[in-house]
Amino acid sequence: MTATPTRSSAGASVTKPNLFHFTRLPRPTVDRAAGIYLWDKQGRRYIDGSSGAVNVNVGHGNQAVIDAMKRQMDRVSFAYTIHFESEPALALGHELAQRLPTGLDRIYFVSGGSEAVEASLKLARQWAVATHQPKRWKVIGRMPSYHGITIGSLGVTGDEVLTPAFTPIGKSMPLVPAPFVHRDKDNLSLEQRGQRYADMLEDKIIEEGADSVLAFIMEPIGGAATAALVPPDSYFARIRDICDRHGILLIHDEVMTGIGRTGRFLGGDHWNCRPDIVVLSKGLSSGYAPLGAIAATEAIVGPVLAMGGFLHGHTYGGNPVATAAGLAVLGEIDRLGLTGNAAAMGEVLKGELQTLAKRFPFVADVRGKGLLLGAELYAAAVAKTPLPRDHNANVRLIDLAFERGLIIYSRRVRGGPESDNFMVCPPLIVTREQIGEIVDVLGDSLQALADELGLPVNS
Ligand code: PLP
Repeated sequence: MTATPTRSSAGASVTKPNLFHFTRLPRPTVDRAAGIYLWDKQGRRYIDGSSGAVNVNVGHGNQAVIDAMKRQMDRVSFAYTIHFESEPALALGHELAQRLPTGLDRIYFVSGGSEAVEASLKLARQWAVATHQPKRWKVIGRMPSYHGITIGSLGVTGDEVLTPAFTPIGKSMPLVPAPFVHRDKDNLSLEQRGQRYADMLEDKIIEEGADSVLAFIMEPIGGAATAALVPPDSYFARIRDICDRHGILLIHDEVMTGIGRTGRFLGGDHWNCRPDIVVLSKGLSSGYAPLGAIAATEAIVGPVLAMGGFLHGHTYGGNPVATAAGLAVLGEIDRLGLTGNAAAMGEVLKGELQTLAKRFPFVADVRGKGLLLGAELYAAAVAKTPLPRDHNANVRLIDLAFERGLIIYSRRVRGGPESDNFMVCPPLIVTREQIGEIVDVLGDSLQALADELGLPVNS
């Protein structure tokens, strides 16, 4: 890999990168960002059609967030939560509790999504021990799903690529199928299929032994693992009912769906869900600082604290600068009406994606809510025949869009049936005109993909 010579902050010329990442792909060095755009050191502009990792909800360069962080840094940048409370953490906890479903008002801060998932698993487990249910430890997840990259969060993740290497040193938890109802070939309605997928959870609970199951973890609307998969309405109430009947905690992983992304504060708010634990990160600080959180009820937190305390803690969890960023982000979401904008612009963008799907018949199943939108790439959309794996269509589409100055999210549906997908998730500040810009470049990129792979295009 060749590196672009650049200057380190210490003034030295950096020609050979010391960093390593998930892939070996050379990437341009970022220079600056504003709104929904980023520029590299060569001056090339990129539209951030993925909000970074679907986290930069308030957009880049938000001055209110930057100012709030600077003010906090001038006062105190770090105080350990074992020694001090901090004003921004207290205020952010309060503000979050106002926005979360009633009762989810006990908040614990960490530094990211995987950490938050880990914390939710540990809190759930300690609750079981504290309430004299020590046999409960299994946390059922879904296949496919993504809950993070640490050993514990991978243990509840359904992904045949990311998890197998770590199975010997972690614990693989039971999985049930994610509700890909649109792919099923039967005579049931979507709502009936939704119930059927929920019932698969009950079957799994019984198979595992109900008194050994601690919790069920799910993304209310799918993230990258399923490209914004939206379950039928019937799924949610049934899942809640099954968890209640078996005394199992329901954990909603809202790391990607939370903080206005889907047009409501939480993804689960579309169905008035009331999980026992909510996991947040990404949009909570919108990329300005590493931040995550879990919110739980007093019925869960109370016994754990009474038993001696939550056996958890990260050095940077709840630090003043990150929580100041989060507090300012919530302020900006309200001031700029970004949740409403996500709902409104999401409708516009979804309509445009559906139009693209008519032009490019290999694009299908446009789905999602608000500005968490995705679609699948098929060889034959009607028959839902996947593209050959060696086409690597998802990776090619990312690259073709990137070359044209548009960043989108894309990956083969992890662990599930063979298929490729892509996601378009711009910052919640996106305007109608900017959506037009995104769709133009995406259209060019899909045309280039069609040319390369010999896929059909309608005129
Ligand atoms: N949970 C979900 C639903 C996610 O989408 C992600 C990240 O994409 C995570 C957890 C892990 O978050 P992080 O990458 O901040 O560790």
